[in-house]
Parts: sequence; structure tokens; C-alpha cells
Amino acid sequence: MKHERTTAQRSTAEWQAADAAHFMHPFTDFGALAKKGSRIIEKAEGIHLWDTEGHRILDAMSGLWCVNVGYGQRTLIDAATKQLEQLPFYNAFFQTATPPAIELAELLAELTPPQFKHVFFSGSGSEGNDTIVRMVRRYWDLLGQPERRVIISRNNAYHGSTMAGASLGGMSGMHAQGGLPIPDITHIEQPYWYELGRSMSRDEFGIVAAGWLEKKILEVGAERVAAFIGEPIQGAGGVIIPPETYWPEVQRICDKYGVLLVSDEVICGFGRTGNWWGCETMGTRPDLMTFAKGVTSGYIPLGGVMVGERIAKVLIERGGEFNHGYTYSGHPVACAVALANIRLIQRERLVEKVRNDLGPHLARGFEALKEHPLIGDAETCGLMGALLLVKDKASGAPFAPELEVGMICRGHCFANGLIMRAVGDRMIIAPPLVITGEQIDEMLGLIRRCLDLTWADVRAQG
Ligand SMILES: *Cc1c(COP(=O)(O)O)cnc(C)c1O
Repeated sequence: MKHERTTAQRSTAEWQAADAAHFMHPFTDFGALAKKGSRIIEKAEGIHLWDTEGHRILDAMSGLWCVNVGYGQRTLIDAATKQLEQLPFYNAFFQTATPPAIELAELLAELTPPQFKHVFFSGSGSEGNDTIVRMVRRYWDLLGQPERRVIISRNNAYHGSTMAGASLGGMSGMHAQGGLPIPDITHIEQPYWYELGRSMSRDEFGIVAAGWLEKKILEVGAERVAAFIGEPIQGAGGVIIPPETYWPEVQRICDKYGVLLVSDEVICGFGRTGNWWGCETMGTRPDLMTFAKGVTSGYIPLGGVMVGERIAKVLIERGGEFNHGYTYSGHPVACAVALANIRLIQRERLVEKVRNDLGPHLARGFEALKEHPLIGDAETCGLMGALLLVKDKASGAPFAPELEVGMICRGHCFANGLIMRAVGDRMIIAPPLVITGEQIDEMLGLIRRCLDLTWADVRAQG
């Protein structure tokens, strides 16, 4: 009776065998993983994870950019338990609502920039971006401009993995599978200074990169462009921090052509960049914002869309029924956890800590790592950071992709008790916002050790 066995009774090898036999992991080469075996994560506390072999690992990625308040927070656990007991589920379809969903909507309206008074809940960031596509097109339909359907996004953007989310995203590997993007979604080049603009100053490049949006609007025809979507800082694309000039210029261009601006705040929201919202750090006034991940610190799935008054007014006053929604839109347990999570962030003043203390601390540490022979560039914003591994520091020449130097480095990180992610040769981090200064130093020490080990490997290979 294998179903009766508990965690403690299975060995790592047994877990791995059952995993390989039945569990198809997201974004995974199934065959390769089955041969290698998964690492089984069993428990967590604070900023640390433990695997079934008893290894303690510093989670510098906050799970998947989401566990902003760290693991084991009692108030979130209690909020979930209490809500599960009182009302584990009720929907919001039948002209009904639940107190946690209403309270969260109210709190989000308070926390977000003043143009936002309404929220549409989803179960995830991908679903939130599906809602964005539906809502943006509905808005223009209601205004009598149904030809405004085209949404402009960027190469190497990540907006989720549903059909619309992956289409909005600019990941060529995703587009290559399943016939994407869906119609009327088009992409411009990303604002990646190191790769595309090093012949200019960062500020000059920011204006040039924003200019690609204007060029695309004119190419498509302004009367056909519904919206532009972007992450304030591209996360999954490798923590690409745009020049300071970029977003204000994008805002100016969107305003000039009446194009809606959508800020995908799934990673940047809830304090990651040192403000509640990435758009505040970048200086934009979006019409719509997607959120997920940090809204519950990942303890339970939840996402949604903040709907600016420009759009909400049209949908409410002229819309009739909006034929769109999810079973879990406004899930009471998820909303209760989100409320507890946000109150904890407020009580602990985590956003202020990231802005005034932890973010600058991390930035100094990354600046010091620039001396390392492997590092071509190091940048941070709040508690997000990227280290670019290069073959030649002076020229910035990259390693051959087939060397997979980023993966070599990531391997050393795993082996040394650190989770850092590799996007090509960009090593990226986004640690929990509850990390302390001493823990940042511990993390920086681990990073340096793993860079040294990677450097030794690279030199041994010639
Ligand atoms: C993770 C992510 C998404 C997708 O969220 P899911 O909850 O995985 O569907 C969308 N946008 C951004 C910027 C993300 O990082």
C-alpha cells in the first residue's frame, strides 16, 4: 500500500523514482530529469530550505520570485487555517462575494497608485495577463475602436505560460512550441544595454530603446495599437534593469498615441524594487497592472489585474456583462492569506527596509563583485540582482553558449548550499525581503566562492 507511506518513510531515491514515473515538471526536459533525479525539497524556515538529504540551502530566489516574507510565517498560516475552517470556498460569479476578497480589493486600491480603484482577481500571473488581453480589447471595442487590437510587447519578456501569456512574452523557445504568438501580438527589442547599447551611455540607449516602441506603433498604425505591456524590470529574462531614461520615454510615447500602458508587476510588485510597485521605481503611470507571486508570498496561488479608472469607468458604465472570469477569482483562502501577507509587509516595514537598507547593502556587495575576473557587469535594483559572466572582461566578449558557464556556476551554487538561477550566463538573485544584512553578507560570501569555483573550471577547460 504505497499510498500510506509518509515523507519520513521514503528515501530520496524512492522519491526520485516516483517523481520520474509520474510527475511532469514545468519547463523541464522530462527525459533528462528522469535520468538525473530531482532534488526533493522537504521543509523551509526563514530564507532557508532543506532537502531530503538534510542539506540546508539559502534560497536567494525566494522560491520562484514569490516568497517575499520568507518561509514559516505564522500569521499567514493562521489566516489560511482560520479561513479554511470558516469558508474554504465560495465563488464570486452569482452576484456574491466573500469578506476576504472584498477586504483585499479595498486594501489593494489603497496600496496602488491613485489611478487604481478596482481589481479583477485571477489564480495566477498568466491568467492575469489573459485577463489583460481580454480587457484591453473589450475596452477599445466599447469605445467604438475595435480595430485597436494589437498589443506590443518585447523580446525576452516573460508574461506567463498560458496561450496569451506566452504570446505576450518574448521567449523564442516558447513561441517555437504550439504555434505562438496568437494573432495581433507583436514584439520590439528589449532595453538590454550591455548587449545592445554599449556603444552609447546607458541614458542615451534608454531613449533609443524606447524609440523602438514609437517606430513599431507607426509601423502597425497607431489606430490599430491597443496597448504596450512590459515588466518594469524583466525578471525571467535575466533581471534586465533598463536605463533610467527608458520608462519615462515609453510613458511619453504611449500618451502621445493614446496607447494603454500595462505594467506586469508579478515580480516587481509588493516591495521587490524598494517601492510597493515597480512602476513607482521606474516613474510610469500604468493603466493596468498584473500582480501575482508576492501578493501571497507564494503561500497559496493568487493573481489579478489592477484596473485603472480610465478602463474601469468604461467597463462599468457602458460594458454590460464582461464574459470572462475564473472559478478561483477572489478565492477566500487565497485572499485571506494575501491580507495577512500585506499586513506583515506593512508591520515589518519591509518595503522601506529594501529601499533604505537592504537594497543599498546588496548594491555595494555586487559592486565589489565587479572586480572578479568572471564578471562583466553587476547590477541591482532593490532586492533583485544580476551578475553577467563573460569570457573577456575588457571587451565584454561572451562565453560560447555551448560551454553553459551559467549552468556550471549554478551547479556550484547548489553544491554549496545556495540557490541562484542562471539565465544564459546571467546569474540572478531575488532573495526574500526578510533577509538581514548579515544574511546578505553570508549570501555574498557563497556567491564569491561559487564564482571562484566556476573560474577554476573555466580556466581548466582552457
Ligand atoms: C511568473 C510571471 C508571470 C506568470 O505568473 P504565473 O503565476 O506563473 O502564471 C507573469 N509575469 C511575470 C513578470 C512573471 O514573472
